[in-house]
Amino acid sequence: MKRRTSGILRGVTAAALCLAVAVSGKLIDGGNGFPQPIRSFADTQSDLQQKIADADAKIKEIEQKIAAAGTDIESNKEQQDNYWNKLVATQEKIDLVNLSVSNKEDEIEAKEAEIANVELRIQDTEFRIKDKEAEIDMLDRKNKDNIYRFGQIIHAMYITDSDDYLSIIAGSADFYDIFVRSEIMKSVKEQNLNFMNMLLADIDKLKDDEVQLENDKKQLQADKITLEEEKDELLSQKQELDEEKKYYNDLNSGYWDEYNTYAVKIQDLETRQANLQYEKKVTAEVREKAQRELEEEIRRAQERAKHNTVYDTGEWAWPVSPSFTLITTNFGYDAWRGGNHGGIDIGNSGMMGANIYASKGGEVIVAKTTYVPGYDYGMYVVIDHGSGYQTLYAHCSAIYVSVGQVVNKGDCIAAVGATGWATGPHLHFEVRKDGVRIDPLGVVPKP
Ligand SMILES: [Zn+2]
Repeated sequence: MKRRTSGILRGVTAAALCLAVAVSGKLIDGGNGFPQPIRSFADTQSDLQQKIADADAKIKEIEQKIAAAGTDIESNKEQQDNYWNKLVATQEKIDLVNLSVSNKEDEIEAKEAEIANVELRIQDTEFRIKDKEAEIDMLDRKNKDNIYRFGQIIHAMYITDSDDYLSIIAGSADFYDIFVRSEIMKSVKEQNLNFMNMLLADIDKLKDDEVQLENDKKQLQADKITLEEEKDELLSQKQELDEEKKYYNDLNSGYWDEYNTYAVKIQDLETRQANLQYEKKVTAEVREKAQRELEEEIRRAQERAKHNTVYDTGEWAWPVSPSFTLITTNFGYDAWRGGNHGGIDIGNSGMMGANIYASKGGEVIVAKTTYVPGYDYGMYVVIDHGSGYQTLYAHCSAIYVSVGQVVNKGDCIAAVGATGWATGPHLHFEVRKDGVRIDPLGVVPKP
């Protein structure tokens, strides 16, 4: 945190608070979304125990969330399975319909082949009818010629006055009837008539053939109509199958949508579980660290108790010049901070760089000169006075002692500053008894 100018500071003296966090076990957001433990090298045993208890509670909470997500995943998977079964069932129907459609298409194809075959036969029959007609025409012409010639013979034979016969015979459309029924022909020689009859019999035969072919053609055309009707029936059946297929495909498409929706839900829940697992891991690490520190703290406390060194049995001294007595934040609950304040803040204006004195004789056990701006105590000193007492001096701008150094009451150990989490220069002063922070004003007399 940036240092404020003294002008601003005067206006906000009351707010020139030491923000060294003394709220036991509280975690602050490290800005990356995950809680970051407060640096705990100066934490007391009770702080560390609270930190471990908090981590345990948090791990339990995370585990409950993981279990809840697991239950949600199970129920979503059940729903998803449900849709999968529906998909399988409709797919079976689609497969069946597809098979029917395929069979129907084969039948239609066969029917079309039959129709094409009948059409070919009709065409062939028509050619044959044409041939037959041409033959009849030819014989017809032949007959006409013969009749004409007979007529001439008869005319010459009987020499009638009338030319009417000839003209009647030659011009008549139905010349044959006239010819055979005429009185004249009754006297024509048998052999000549036989020859004529042969020709006429040929024509009759051809005409019969032609009638037969026409009948064949009619039959084929009737067959073709029947086949076309059968084909139409098959097409209509196929259309029904296509509609059925579309119905099941639509159904399946809807089921797929549902299935995929559940897949997305499950994936989200699995991601959530993974994030919770990570959070649990981080919290477990925090707990492990606190546990190790607690063990170390206990070991050191035992060590100190073993030596039970008493450095100074005299009175406690005020840690700064007696002219600096403005307490900007007291020990205990602080509403502005929203938690407990582990010491007192002495924050007169103009204190920057002022001397800090050992409140009592003892051994320096912490002399911290490295720090992260804006966090925690900044540069600070802890002195162990024996008999379970320790004092802590935080936010220093300079430190004049080192760990292991034995100091006397009133020795200058550091200079007032605003390092760490502080809004302006002041001394954050703590007194600890058997690892528990107590109100310094209950121990150190204020001048
Ligand atoms: Zn403070």
